[in-house]
This record gives sequence, C-alpha cells and structure tokens, in this order.
Amino acid sequence: MKLPVTLQNAYEKNRLAHAYLFYGLPPGKYHNYVKHFFQLLACDSEQSPCGDCLECKQIEQLIHPDLLVLNEQNEKITVKKVREKIITRAELTPARGARIYFWINDISRLTDSASNALLKVLEEPPGEAIFLLTARSRWQCLPTIRSRCQWIRFTTSRQRPNSPLEALQNFWNETTPDDEEVAGWKQLLTGETTSDKISWSRKKARNFLSFLLACVHLGYTEPELEDSYKNIIEQRNLTYRLVPAILERLAELEQGGQPLLIVNSILEEIYYPEENQQWLNVI
Ligand SMILES: [Zn+2]
Repeated sequence: MKLPVTLQNAYEKNRLAHAYLFYGLPPGKYHNYVKHFFQLLACDSEQSPCGDCLECKQIEQLIHPDLLVLNEQNEKITVKKVREKIITRAELTPARGARIYFWINDISRLTDSASNALLKVLEEPPGEAIFLLTARSRWQCLPTIRSRCQWIRFTTSRQRPNSPLEALQNFWNETTPDDEEVAGWKQLLTGETTSDKISWSRKKARNFLSFLLACVHLGYTEPELEDSYKNIIEQRNLTYRLVPAILERLAELEQGGQPLLIVNSILEEIYYPEENQQWLNVI
C-alpha cells in the first residue's frame, strides 16, 4: 500500500498537519489508506507500519483506544454525534500512545450544525490530535472546514469518461442519491422556489456537486446543463444568497469562464487529474 507522496513526505519530515482532507475516491474506498496512515503514525516497530504490533492490529480492526471513527454509512452526522464522539474525546489526552486519531468518513453527511461544531475543533485543535476527513470531492464540505485541512488527492485507475455527462452519470451510479437535495435543486432549476421555500432549498441544495447530480438525475443533456447553469446565473441575486458553493464557481464565470469548463474543473478532481489539460482541450 502506498500513500500519496505529499503525505509520505510530510510524515518523513515530521511535518504532519493537524487535519487532512482525503478526496477523490468514493467514501467506501478509503479504509485501507486510512488504516495504513494511522498505523504508520502509531506503530511501535522501526519498520513502521509492521502490521504485527498491538497498535497496528488494533488500528486494523478499528478498535484502537485512541482512534475515533464516524463511519455509519448513509446516516447524517449530527451535531450530537460530533459532540459525543469528537469534541468530548478531543479534550482528553491519548489513552496509550502519543496522539488521538479521528476519522470522519464521507463528510457530505455532516449537517450544518455538525459542520460548525467540527469547525470549532479544527480552529483550535488539541495538541496531540490528528483529524482525518474523507470525501468524494473536496467541494462537499464547507469552505471554512476545507481551508483548515491539508488536501490530499487520491485517484483511481478508471477509464476516462467520454463526456462531462458520462462522467456525471458514472458518478451518479456510484452515489446514493439524496432525494431531498435533488428536489431542492429541482426547485431552483425550474424556478419553483417561492419565498417560503427558500430556506428549505438553501439547506438542501447547498452543494455544487449535488447541482450536477440533480441535472443528471433530471435527464439534462449537455446543452441543457449549460442552459440551466445560465438560468442560475440570471437568478444571481437569489443564487448568491442561496448557494455558497456555487458562489465560488460563479466568480470564475464572471471572469469569463465557460460553464462546461467550470463543471469540468470539478469533475477533473474526481476523475482524472493528470489528464485534466488534455481533456479540457477536447471540449
Ligand atoms: Zn506495528
């Protein structure tokens, strides 16, 4: 098992960050990397990670007393869970080793209040803790959380999709759709949003990636995807208030960026970072 070079280097030079955001893989694909990383840090042997010592074994089984994991699939991570599992534990000293390790898998599951609670810990991390967040895309978390983490990109050796739409469809097929989020976007895209629904839409449709997913889910073709994007730009005042994640991308549009290129800039992170330039030129 090999960790990305930047992470390996940080470890070797003893320059580890307090918080990492691993992104680029489906949430179910991080287990081995996460365990390897924590074993590397906790292992007692000179040949770290040895796989045989108590530290390595307990991390392998995710039962290490200094390892806290939030990994219930498809369940929202509430502020209560963050308080119980993360915050109260982060205040304590490690039970055995030098550090406490936290792993939150699929951060798109964090509710707003849970995100804010987590942010507070990340802003003032306890000395011996390492926080590891994992996500499909780094755009799935609040910008404030993102900026507190060191980003480490993971890639899969998958075949390159032929078009943005195909990439989205692949992604959609591997993702458990959040119906409420799709519905929130549908309201925005079709202009159904009324003032009493704005706060609901805002809550559900805050993720740019989910915008793309909703477009695919609703059967949009590429030109329609571009059109829907333009419509959103026309509703700018509304959108500005509604969707912080889109705001970031809209700024690029205003500087002359092309909608599909901006969509691609997100997709390339997920699918084929190395081939990014080539692929963008094809569009
Ligand atoms: Zn070991």
